[in-house]
Formats: sequence, C-alpha cells, structure tokens
Amino acid sequence: MQGRFANIIVDISHEKVDRPFQYRIPEALLGLPEPGMKVRIPFGSGNKLRTGYIIEITDEPEFDVSRLKEIDSVIEEGVQVESRLIRLAFWMKEHYGSTMINALKTVLPVRQKLKQQEKKEICLRVGKEEARAEMLQCERKHQGAKARVLRELIAEERLPQTLVARKLNISPATFRSLQEAGLIDINSVPYYRNPVKLDAQREAGHHLSERQQFVVDSVLKDYDDGIRQTYLLRGITGSGKTEVYMELIAQMIQRGRQAVMLIPEIALTYQTVLRFYKRFGDRVSVMNSTLSPGEKYDQCERARKGEIDVIIGPRSALFTPFPDIGIIIIDEEHENSYKSETMPKYHARETAEELAVLHGASVFLGSATPSLESFYRAKQGKYRLFTLNERLTGGVLPTVYVEDLRQELKNGNRSIFSKRLQELLEDRLGRGEQSMLFLNRRGYAGFVSCRMCGHVMKCPHCDVSLSEHRNGTLVCHYCGFTQPAVKLCPECGSKYILGFRAGTEQIEEQLHKLYPDKKVLRMDADTTKTKDSYEKILSAFSAGEADILVGTQMIVKGHDFPNVTLMGILAADMSLSVNDYRAGERTFQLLTQAAGRAGRGTRPGEVVIQTYQPEHYSILHAAAQDYEGFYEEEILYRQLLSYPPVSHILAVQVTSAAQEGGEVLAGQLKRLCEGAPEGREEKTIIIGPAPAFIGRINDIFRYVLYVKNPDYEVLIRLKNRMEHFLKEEDRKDESVQFDFDPMSSF
Ligand code: ADP
Ligand code: ZN
Ligand code: ZN
Repeated sequence: MQGRFANIIVDISHEKVDRPFQYRIPEALLGLPEPGMKVRIPFGSGNKLRTGYIIEITDEPEFDVSRLKEIDSVIEEGVQVESRLIRLAFWMKEHYGSTMINALKTVLPVRQKLKQQEKKEICLRVGKEEARAEMLQCERKHQGAKARVLRELIAEERLPQTLVARKLNISPATFRSLQEAGLIDINSVPYYRNPVKLDAQREAGHHLSERQQFVVDSVLKDYDDGIRQTYLLRGITGSGKTEVYMELIAQMIQRGRQAVMLIPEIALTYQTVLRFYKRFGDRVSVMNSTLSPGEKYDQCERARKGEIDVIIGPRSALFTPFPDIGIIIIDEEHENSYKSETMPKYHARETAEELAVLHGASVFLGSATPSLESFYRAKQGKYRLFTLNERLTGGVLPTVYVEDLRQELKNGNRSIFSKRLQELLEDRLGRGEQSMLFLNRRGYAGFVSCRMCGHVMKCPHCDVSLSEHRNGTLVCHYCGFTQPAVKLCPECGSKYILGFRAGTEQIEEQLHKLYPDKKVLRMDADTTKTKDSYEKILSAFSAGEADILVGTQMIVKGHDFPNVTLMGILAADMSLSVNDYRAGERTFQLLTQAAGRAGRGTRPGEVVIQTYQPEHYSILHAAAQDYEGFYEEEILYRQLLSYPPVSHILAVQVTSAAQEGGEVLAGQLKRLCEGAPEGREEKTIIIGPAPAFIGRINDIFRYVLYVKNPDYEVLIRLKNRMEHFLKEEDRKDESVQFDFDPMSSF
C-alpha cells in the first residue's frame, strides 16, 4: 500500500479509536506498513517509545508535515489478535463502505471495569427419590410451579435461580416456599460474569450416523491436508446438523484451536446453550445482546486468555478475540439477521470468510433452506455441498394443504380462516392437541391485491409490488413510479381490490370470539418487549398452558413442540408481495420452516397454507418441501433482473433534513456514477434515485439510488468515488449510507 502517512492508535481499544495520531512513514519503510501492523512510535513530549497499531495509511497530512513525528520501526513478532481485528475492520470498511472508526468500533470490544458480582444458585436439599415423591405430591395438589422446579432439579443438580425463574416462569415466593419446606437450597456464589455458569452433567456426543460422519470426516480431512474452504450443509430440521457442528468443534479443540458458532439471536435459547454446555462445559461461552457491556468484555477477556474454546452468539460473536480460530460455523445461514443494519453493513457470512482467511480457518454453513447466495456458490463449485435428508428423531413430514382464499370469498367465507383451517382447528381443540397460527408481520407493507382474482398491483418497470400510501396513491419504491388509487381490479373488474390489513391482535380476538373457552397465546413484537417474555411464552405453550399460539415469524423459528399437530399459515402472500426482490425467497423459507413445525412428535402433522396466489412457485415448492425446485425458478428470476447472487447491488441511501438537498445530492451521486468509467461499463445498471420505501421518517427525507454490476469490485470502486466526492465538501445537512446486496429494499 502506498501513502506517506499513517494514522496510529496507541493502546488499542474501543475507547481510543476516536483519537488516532498521525505519523510520517520514513523513506526506508515506504510501502511496507499496512493497517493492523504493530509499530514503535515516539510519543508525548519526552518522545518515549511506545507501541501502537496502524489503522489507516493516507496521503493526506492532517497537520503541517514538518511537525509530524516519524514511525520508529515496525514490530514483526507473530500475528497479533489486535492486528487481525484491525485488518478485518479495514476489509469491512472497504467492502461495505463506512469510516475506519465505525469499522473499528464494530470489531473492538468495549472495555469495562470488572465488578465482582454474586449470583444465586439452587440445588436439591433432599435425595432424588424424595424429590420425585414431593414433585408428584405437588402435581396432585396442582402446585405446578413447584413441581416444575423440582423436575428440573432432578434432571440437573444445580441451576442458576434466574435462569430457572425465567425459563419456567417461577416467582420468588415459590423458591422461598420450597426453601422453607427444606426441599431446596439457595446459595450465593461469586459470579465471574460468565453468562453460562451451568453445572450440567457433561455428555458425550451421539454416535454419528454414516452421513453425519462422512461430513465430519470430509471437512477434517481437508483441514488436516491444509485445504481451507467454505462448506454448506443443507439438512432439514432435526436431521442432525447441530450434532455435526459439535463434533467439528470438538475436533478443532483437539487440534488446539478455537471455534466460533453463530446462531440467530432468536434461536439463542436456554436449550441451545445447555446442549453446547453439556458437551463442552466451561470451555464454552455465549455472547448476545442481553449481556451487559461488562459481561461482553469479560467473554472477550476469557477468549483472549485462552480460558474458553467456543463462543456461541449472533453475528457480533465473530469479533471474539480468539488467538487461533480453527472453524467458524454459521447455523441457519439464510437468516437476515446475519446482516448488520448499521454501518458498516456487513454480512456475517462474508465477514466470516475473510476472518477465516486471516486465521487459516474453515467456514461451515448450515441450513434447511440455504440462502440463494450460498446455494449458488455451491452450484458453482465455490462451496462444497453436503446434504442430510432424514429426520433422526423419526416423525413423518406433515401433510400440506394449499387453500385458495379467492375461492373462499366466492363461497361466501369472509373470515380470516378458510373452511378447512377452521375444521382442522376444531378437530385439534376437540382432541386436546395444540395448533399454531402464523401471520407474517411484513404484511403491513401496504401492498394492494384483488381478493377475487389475486392480482397484485405491480410497477410496470420494476416487477415489484406497488405500495399504498395513506392518501391511496400507489408508489414504486425502486424507481419512483406513481399511479392514482385503484377502485376496480384491472384484471377482473372486481371492487374487492384492497390493501391487506390484519394483525395478530385481530386474529387473537377472532379466536376468542369463536372459541371463548379455549386459551390462546400471542407472540409478536408487542408481547415480547420485555426481556424474558419470549422464553416465557414459549415455555408456557410448551407446558401445555394454551391450545393455540398465534404469532409472527418468531413462532416459526427454533423450539420443538411435540404436541403441535396443526400449523396454519394465514396469508402466505403477505411476504410475497412486499416490494422486495428477496420476497419469494423469504416466503419459501418461512413457509418451509413453518410447515416443519407441525408433527414433530409421534403424531403426524397437518399444515394449511392460505393464499390468494396458490399457483405461485414459492408456495407450490414450499408445500412440496422442494428446495431445489424452488432454487431453479428463483435463480432464473434473479438472472433475468440482475439481482444477487447473480449480480450485485450497491444501494446508496441519502438522508437529509431538507427534501431538496437530499434529492439534489442523490442526483449528483447518480451523475457521478454515470460519468465514471465503471458506470459507463456495459454491465452497470443505475436505477433511481427514488424516494425510499419510507420516504420520510421524523421529517428526515430519504432517497435511494441502486447500482448493479456482477463484479463486486466495480461497485467498490464506485463507492470509493462517491466517498471521495462526499469528503470534498463538508456536509452537515445530508448523510449517505452504503449497503451492498441489501437484504430488503429501502
Ligand atoms: P438439526 O440441528 O439438524 O435440527 P440436531 O442435531 O438437533 O438436528 O438433531 C436432531 C435430534 O436428533 C436431536 O435430538 C439430536 O440429539 C438427535 N441426534 C442427532 N444426531 C444423532 C445421532 N447420530 N444419533 C442419535 N440421535 C441423534
Ligand atoms: Zn381481480
Ligand atoms: Zn418501479
């Protein structure tokens, strides 16, 4: 890298990245220093030599050049944890567009003073036999809470009180009463801010099936032969993917290396953590958003000191400062939450691959419904693909019915529930089996469709659906196309052409009206606002405290309910008609996952998919549980319209307090791109600018410009040009964000 000056942080830490110091690079070292390198520099008035890290190389001096000090020397001892993280931050800045400071703040942990804390643990005071007798006694007396605590303690000798309280919904009074009855002890133990201080029995892994063993052996053989690459394991839920992950991790630990296990935040439940804990004991820790900054920092310290080998967490767990990572595993790799929504808008999959290069590690992806990105790469031979097709716990795949809501309307049924769904619901209620009803939250996006023929109002230029604004006008958020409100369906002339509006709350109300004596639980953004409400609802439903669970996508992820034999998907089209090129993929994934929720136990399950578009390929392939069929059709569409993964998109979002300023700047950026050599390339497509999906939030206007090209590097160069242009003027009123291959439209 060329450049005559280096920005350096002394004592690298999250808190210090705002204060880099600039140094001159001496002649003899020109071209040598790189971001991430450790250097010796004269510092302070005494010019005492100290160590620092280079975060940026530049040709633009910040001060009078004659006043800049020179770097003394480069320190070349082993690769440092810090150096790697800085190099990763630099890559993220380049690859996703952000400032170096923001990138560094993303990868460096926040330092917090350690405070000794105490935590309460509960354990049995009596023998297991006696405890069991007491438990049965409690059950007879309908003291459900007490019985649940005892059952848990019979299975696990010692457990953190807060965890049990949260998971089983137990009040402090219940614990006290058990303690007073001499059944349990509550002890205060010093707490090292290890978020998984479980004391479960260690368990060895299952004896792997032949298929599972083949996957593990193949990856390890590559590893031991020095081959590093990305693997993709496609396996239906329950096919034993997690067991494969754990074996791979165990093998890496044997080789003296560490493992990062990414899972979507929402799947980071007590059950999951317990499973890893049983296998790896204290050598595993978790990272998630409910940890305090102090707890997070402690986990980083433990990783740095070699006290743990495995970290489980959402995308940010990638930045755990392990000295020597052997494998990075990403479960449910298709999940949108792997993409950051703040700058730098990095994707965990690509960032994991870059991190793996820096560590010499392997990357292992798993999913029942891989992202188009990953499957495309597997098809191209860039990823090695493995498949697991069978459920190890038995249980047959459910029967799926696709119900045509247009037909229902013609038959005079205006309720949210089709005739078949109502019949099946009543059947389950009668038999005391549980049902789940799933409604897509994204339905509020305001798409307009005809209830008679299913026709969806689409943009004539973009093949995405139009959005209804409050005044009724229909707007395309990709290109800005606008048309007046429609009164009659342009396809069939019916007057039932409306924006779709029905929320989980309305459905809950309907159910109360229909079945007043049945218990319904609801899980959506409103009912899960408080910290533990998510697990509480799940465990209440799991314990059989309700007949029906209504909810948004939250209910289709993770968690097994053996007693659920019916899954109703209320309006499958809602996610389809969102004005978003990933809508078909998201719908397929959601429907497939949702369908997989029914019939997990011994009884066969049934699934009802209600839709206005029963002939849509996403719905048909999901009903048939046919991933490859879906992939083939979806990739054609992506090809045709130059969407990822076939092409790449750079979304440039301009926000401004004054409408005009934003519009003008967005226009300038467009012309800048059009004028650049990359912009004139035949394969470059520039769309917009148009008002963003939500054109104004809190009186801040938002415009968006899309640039497409199959070559990611071309988009990076255009981004750099725009960044350069933006730097030349001091802009206070407008700001610009970049998003590569966005997960949805703006
Ligand atoms: P996935 O991660 O694909 O959903 P899991 O690894 O959780 O699948 O496995 C599903 C169930 O099958 C779990 O209860 C697990 O303990 C069990 N299981 C996995 N592998 C084996 C095996 N080789 N032998 C027996 N049971 C297994
Ligand atoms: Zn119509
Ligand atoms: Zn359009």
